Amino acid sequence: MSDIAQFPYRSRLAPSPTGRLHLGHARTFWTAFERARAAGGTLILRNEDLDPQRSKPEFVSAFIEDLHWLGIDWQEGPDIGGPFAPYVQSERRELHREVLRELIVGGYVFACTCSRKDIQSASNAPHGADEEPLYSGACRPRVVQGDAGAAARLDPAAWGLEAGVRFSLRLRVPDGRGVSFVDDQCGAQNYVAGRDFGDFVLWRQDDVPAYQLAVVADDLAMRITEVVRGADLLVSTARQMLLYEAQGQSPPAWFHCPLVTDGSGQRLAKRSDALSLRALREQGRSPEQVRSMWG
Ligand code: GLU
Repeated sequence: MSDIAQFPYRSRLAPSPTGRLHLGHARTFWTAFERARAAGGTLILRNEDLDPQRSKPEFVSAFIEDLHWLGIDWQEGPDIGGPFAPYVQSERRELHREVLRELIVGGYVFACTCSRKDIQSASNAPHGADEEPLYSGACRPRVVQGDAGAAARLDPAAWGLEAGVRFSLRLRVPDGRGVSFVDDQCGAQNYVAGRDFGDFVLWRQDDVPAYQLAVVADDLAMRITEVVRGADLLVSTARQMLLYEAQGQSPPAWFHCPLVTDGSGQRLAKRSDALSLRALREQGRSPEQVRSMWG
């Protein structure tokens, strides 16, 4: 166990109920389970049902069942409660909005009226390291005009916008600043704000918190000491480091697991039903056989 993971050790499983869990999730979640067990720590299950269009209740019962089948158990979660309840992200909106309000007060946020198309066409070739186009900065000057509470409730007037205008809220990143961290699995990581990733969304225009804000707010509130997740989120970790800093908080330790690929070398997605835990189980594989598949 790393000496950078703090004690008492607390880690989390954070599935989004947007599809069935596949072998990649199983590998990550098994690693998280084993690390928590080795540390004599607490493992938390958090239902990351932020996206109202894509999240489905049947996938919540499915991930609980699949995780238990694999042999994983947790000490706090939506099914068993615990001292940091609720463990369902859509029920934590007030906390998320309060974090947004603090970031607005701190002067980190601007209102962005760009459409997806504007962003695609305005970003010049080198994209961020995780393929999200670099934001051009077009709306950066649109900083808060009114009360931070109203601004955090997406009141257009608080941002100097006309009634009815749709907008998201973005964090302005410090261009050229290095963001470094040591990952316990992947080693030293170095990113540059404004080059590897740009101004990112904190709150969506449909009034839903964005992943980056919600995950940091919840990891802090639930006193997570180590985040174990897939290596596809390494660049997001750099973004999240800026959110910890903006709130004057220390980040947890990081452990990003290698991604599992299919036969053609493609990273598994929730669409890859053939390697879903459900399908493997229906083919008669045992949890032990599944666990040996990434060995
Ligand atoms: N809910 C996220 C996902 O399913 C994981 C986020 C995280 O572990 O930080 O991709």
